[in-house]
Amino acid sequence: MASARRKPPTEDPVLRRYEAQLRDLQAQLAELGFFCKGTVLARRMKCGTPTCACQTDPAQRHGPYFEWTYKAAAKTVHHHLQPEEAAIYEQATQERRRLRRLLQRMENLSRRAIDRKVKIRKKLRPTQSGKISQR
Ligand SMILES: [Zn+2]
Repeated sequence: MASARRKPPTEDPVLRRYEAQLRDLQAQLAELGFFCKGTVLARRMKCGTPTCACQTDPAQRHGPYFEWTYKAAAKTVHHHLQPEEAAIYEQATQERRRLRRLLQRMENLSRRAIDRKVKIRKKLRPTQSGKISQR
């Protein structure tokens, strides 16, 4: 009856704010660089020489040796990296963590927006038929 209740969803201020937040997250997503899963580890190791200082002094251990590890088919894969490779892989794994945080935020936001849309739609639904007359 009241025309104010027949506004399309985009005129809802809450939904408009959610849409603006989504566009902001999409812009951040567009800035994302190349990414890969996994973690880059720097390890310092003992060698096989019994008289080597590394055997008794942790500060004398060899390395760092870099390793990129990731899960594939429920198994952890270890991949040795040269020092110059490590920085590139580290950057790429950070990008993927950024991607996942962004996706999580987008999903949380989407959930709120969808709830809001449902709420608006229910207000528009005519009580007598249950049919939705307006999108
Ligand atoms: Zn050693």
